[in-house]
Amino acid sequence: MAWCPLCRSEYREGVTVCPECGKALVDELPSETEPEWDPTDWVTVEEVGDRATAAIVEGFLLEQGFPVRLLDRSDSELVTTLGELSIIEVQVPAGDLDRALDLLAERDEALEAEPGPGDEGEDRG
Ligand SMILES: [Zn+2]
Repeated sequence: MAWCPLCRSEYREGVTVCPECGKALVDELPSETEPEWDPTDWVTVEEVGDRATAAIVEGFLLEQGFPVRLLDRSDSELVTTLGELSIIEVQVPAGDLDRALDLLAERDEALEAEPGPGDEGEDRG
C-alpha cells in the first residue's frame, strides 16, 4: 500500500506520486501523534528551581559525556507572574540515570567539602 505523506491519502500499489500533491508516496505513514518522536527514554535526574542552576547541572553532565536536555515546566502564566520561580527538570537517558546520579552525588559532596569563603583554617593532620 502507498500513502501520501502530505495529505495522508491511501493509494493502491503501483501509484508512486500523489496526484493531489505531486508528492512521492511512501510505504508507511510516519506516526501521526509524534512525527519527531525521540526514541530516547528521558528521565529526570534533578529538578531545579532556576535556569542558572539548571545550566550548571547541565554543563556538569555534558562535561561527563552525558546527553542532557532541560525540560522547562515554568511556562505557565501563573508561575511567570510569581516572579523568579521556575521548575526545570534536568533529564538524561534512562540508561545513564544511575551513573549520572552517582556523579551528581559525588559532585555535591565535593561542593560541601569545600571551605566556605573567608574560612582559611587548615587542620589537616
Ligand atoms: Zn497527497
